[in-house]
Amino acid sequence: MIALSTWGAPIPEYAPAVLSSALAERLRLIEQYPVIFAANRPGEAGVMGCCPCSPDGGIEIMPANITTPAQLLDTYCHELAHRLIRAVDVDFAGHNRYFAALYALLLRRASGHLPVHDRILSLSLYDVADEPESQHAKAIDFALRQSAALAGAAMSAEDCARAIDGVETMSYLDKQQWLLSLSGPDWRGLRRHAR
Ligand SMILES: [Zn+2]
Repeated sequence: MIALSTWGAPIPEYAPAVLSSALAERLRLIEQYPVIFAANRPGEAGVMGCCPCSPDGGIEIMPANITTPAQLLDTYCHELAHRLIRAVDVDFAGHNRYFAALYALLLRRASGHLPVHDRILSLSLYDVADEPESQHAKAIDFALRQSAALAGAAMSAEDCARAIDGVETMSYLDKQQWLLSLSGPDWRGLRRHAR
């Protein structure tokens, strides 16, 4: 179970069905990070989520700004990506190519969890806004490629966060080995395109 609690805001009635054990399994999470439904902070009327905001490092979601199960799932994946990246890279707390790649990976894995759900299209320039503007297209390209490479792999979401963070610094041979080590429906295609 993903633990759901409240901090001044109601838990939406559909939240337990969206943020279920089945979702954690789809995402291949080792840990199940608690979600806190919080009231809007002063001056942050449109903010849908925050991570890590609470003292225990939980994922905060502001239900006043969320109207559908798909929006809740999308926001959870966004904040979870921050949480996972933060766990492997303590200095990082923003929107860059590594964050966007992990967010896209979680969206790909979550695809099919809700009846109508193709959230990969929700990746946007906002998700790479901390990269220099000249690097935005490259960062989105990186996010789409890395998430496609890893989404079908048997690796946990936590291991994916580590792999995405380190993949750009790998040598060509290490990258080949890494691609060969992946298991999942996509790995044969990846071998062909490993160059
Ligand atoms: Zn964010």
